[in-house]
Amino acid sequence: MNSSRSLCKEHIRRIMLDAGAETVGFAEAAPVSGEAELRYNRWIADGRHAGMSYMKRYPDVRRDPRLLLEGAHTVIVAAFNYTPTRRQPHGAPRIADYALGLDYHDVIRARLGGAAEKMKQMYGGETRICVDTAPLRERYWAVRAGLGFIGLNNQLIVPGIGSRVFIGTVIWTETVDPDMPCTDSCARCGACLKACPAQALQPDGSGLDARRCLSYLTIEHRGDLPEDLHTGGRLYGCDACQDVCPHNRTATPTAIPEFTPSESITALTEADIDTMDADRFRTLFRHSAVRRTKLEGLRRNLRHL
Ligand code: SF4
Ligand code: SF4
Repeated sequence: MNSSRSLCKEHIRRIMLDAGAETVGFAEAAPVSGEAELRYNRWIADGRHAGMSYMKRYPDVRRDPRLLLEGAHTVIVAAFNYTPTRRQPHGAPRIADYALGLDYHDVIRARLGGAAEKMKQMYGGETRICVDTAPLRERYWAVRAGLGFIGLNNQLIVPGIGSRVFIGTVIWTETVDPDMPCTDSCARCGACLKACPAQALQPDGSGLDARRCLSYLTIEHRGDLPEDLHTGGRLYGCDACQDVCPHNRTATPTAIPEFTPSESITALTEADIDTMDADRFRTLFRHSAVRRTKLEGLRRNLRHL
């Protein structure tokens, strides 16, 4: 790539927006701030990552994204809106909004893959795409790239779009001028703290306690749930701290067809899940994030509705 970095920047942004991103930002690939590292380490030391032991691994990579791609100079972060185009019927076992359409890992990786190819053809360099699976501090980089801010509900909030966004990142060996930080911030209204059915959020904003969070317990946790746990009709995940957030009031439904809620998933009843066999589970959730919890996990959650 030639030295006209800002010239290519808006073109790269256009490529990413054409790939379906709602907003895109750029940051210099560099170690995370000392404060961010300290907060993360404290969160881990307190055990608030619960059984997600993978979050303790690769601390050096988590600290410095340049270890994910040799010669990395730029972190490009894109937010993809998944605000559902319709809701589940009243009384249906609730499935988190993010899981109603196709699995975002596959969708975003494919979309960013096409975008990265175009970037490389035009400007050269090497890229690495990260969608949730690499030890990358995605929300940190989203903030650093100017996309938005972290709310008390622990979510990335993009002004005008809200928190129902997936983050996709392209690390690139070429250099692009970084974007300015977002000047908006969480209204700190406390609605998410009040709405959380598990008191999993901290009023000081120090992060989520996954050991209590229904999203963690119904998706990531393996084994039995506490006997007295009531998930309040939530079968897979929890959206309570996003549902009440005023930043989500102006969100428009997603324009990405793959994230349109699947009718066969939104129409599921408790009886369907109770009688579902392994073949039916595999077929129904083949392209859905729900397959993560496995049939046993879904049945376990059903017992706590
Ligand atoms: S509900 Fe209120 S306090 Fe919570 S993230 Fe949204 S604006 Fe911030
Ligand atoms: S996802 Fe649900 S349980 Fe977890 S912090 Fe948000 S409101 Fe609380």
